[in-house]
Amino acid sequence: MNKEDLLKRLEELKALPKRSLGQNFLVSDHVVEKILQSVKVKEDLNLLEIGPGVGALTEHLVKIPCSNFRVIELDEAFASYWRGRELEVIEADALQWGWGEAENQKSPTHLVSNLPYQISAPLVMELSSMGASWIQSMTLMFQKEVAERIVAVPKTKAYGTLSVVAQMRWNIKKVVDAGPACFHPRPKVSSRVLNFQWNPEGEGSLAFLKFVRSGFLNRRKFLMKSLKGISGGFDWEKALTEMGLSTQVRAEELKPGEWFELFRKFKGHGN
Ligand code: SAH
Repeated sequence: MNKEDLLKRLEELKALPKRSLGQNFLVSDHVVEKILQSVKVKEDLNLLEIGPGVGALTEHLVKIPCSNFRVIELDEAFASYWRGRELEVIEADALQWGWGEAENQKSPTHLVSNLPYQISAPLVMELSSMGASWIQSMTLMFQKEVAERIVAVPKTKAYGTLSVVAQMRWNIKKVVDAGPACFHPRPKVSSRVLNFQWNPEGEGSLAFLKFVRSGFLNRRKFLMKSLKGISGGFDWEKALTEMGLSTQVRAEELKPGEWFELFRKFKGHGN
């Protein structure tokens, strides 16, 4: 969809881009193409898109042979438009929707979204820690800095809770970069699309997310000190030493796998 088509569609729908809903519509065929290429078509595939808007991606996604296609849209005007096109529309806030509820799940699902910037980091946290495996893969657009935080390596400024929980749950690859000119209206920031594949050897739970988050509360402190508040008699010194780590290690120095090993020891102790 080029900018002219987009403006025409918006006019037909009497809609103006809403900044409060992070509405930056895709007008780059190249980026759309790259996103579509990352969807691995399988017979039993279910597709789910967050925020179809006027359909830059949706118009293509509906043509992919799949067992079920649903969209989640918060904007009433767009939700009713897609309902009129006989799509299965979930009119909801994607951050509030019950991702972990059995009746909402269809396995296996590929999630696609040009995500509104303000919900992207919390959404990845939620999907990485919900403890259900129905979303097998996802292709998501982020503000570039958020994409960098997701794939960040230890001992960098960008490395934090988001990096650890996302990397422990998914195998993540960059799909394509998208500058401000790829959208209308143009955002102030650059964007990047990432592809996530469920890692069967990975891990994710709310308890793990909370654990990592407490460790990162004060990233400059020794990890042992940050975690003291949740100890319940657990011997951090012994655990870190057993893992071959210094007792003076800081949160930002632990690799995702080490975070998980420490968490397992802590849980195993009855916490
Ligand atoms: N996919 C379209 C639109 C992207 S703009 C395109 O690429 O052109 C972001 C879309 O997400 C808009 O349709 C907006 O209404 C919707 N949206 C914003 N916040 C949302 C939320 N919390 N839950 C679900 N949809 C949301």
